[in-house]
Amino acid sequence: MSSVFSKIVQREIPAYIVYEDELVMAFLDITQATKGHTLVIPKEAYENIFVMPEALASHLFGVATKIAKSIQKAFHAPALNILSNNGEMAGQSVFHFHVHLIPRYGKGDENVLILANHQQQLTQEDYKERAQKIKEALS
Ligand code: AMP
Repeated sequence: MSSVFSKIVQREIPAYIVYEDELVMAFLDITQATKGHTLVIPKEAYENIFVMPEALASHLFGVATKIAKSIQKAFHAPALNILSNNGEMAGQSVFHFHVHLIPRYGKGDENVLILANHQQQLTQEDYKERAQKIKEALS
């Protein structure tokens, strides 16, 4: 069965995509644990880091670095966590490798690595505006 992320790659379900090339895609995490929380994935569905080709992982981390800088620029985030859960025991819930980029702003986000879910408080406009800011900062 294809993962929810493969469905995003195939445009079968919507996402707020901020970056795409032949091999990699990045889009806003639906929970927005913090403002600008972004996922970077390989387009091909590798389950976790243990089966990722190293050249692809290397490209993906290059892209993640570029997007981290754009998130910093877009939202003036003074800090950022990079997180990747690999395997159920590590908290992985979508079994298509991904890297979380989680900008940190200080007061109020101390517990964010419990991955707060703000989906219910956000409108589509909020997501669009956040995605647009990152895309603008990328250029
Ligand atoms: P993990 O628990 O590390 O496997 O992270 C999976 C992440 O995927 C979670 O933070 C979810 O919020 C996120 N997620 C699941 N479905 C979607 C979706 N349709 N669009 C964006 N993010 C999603």
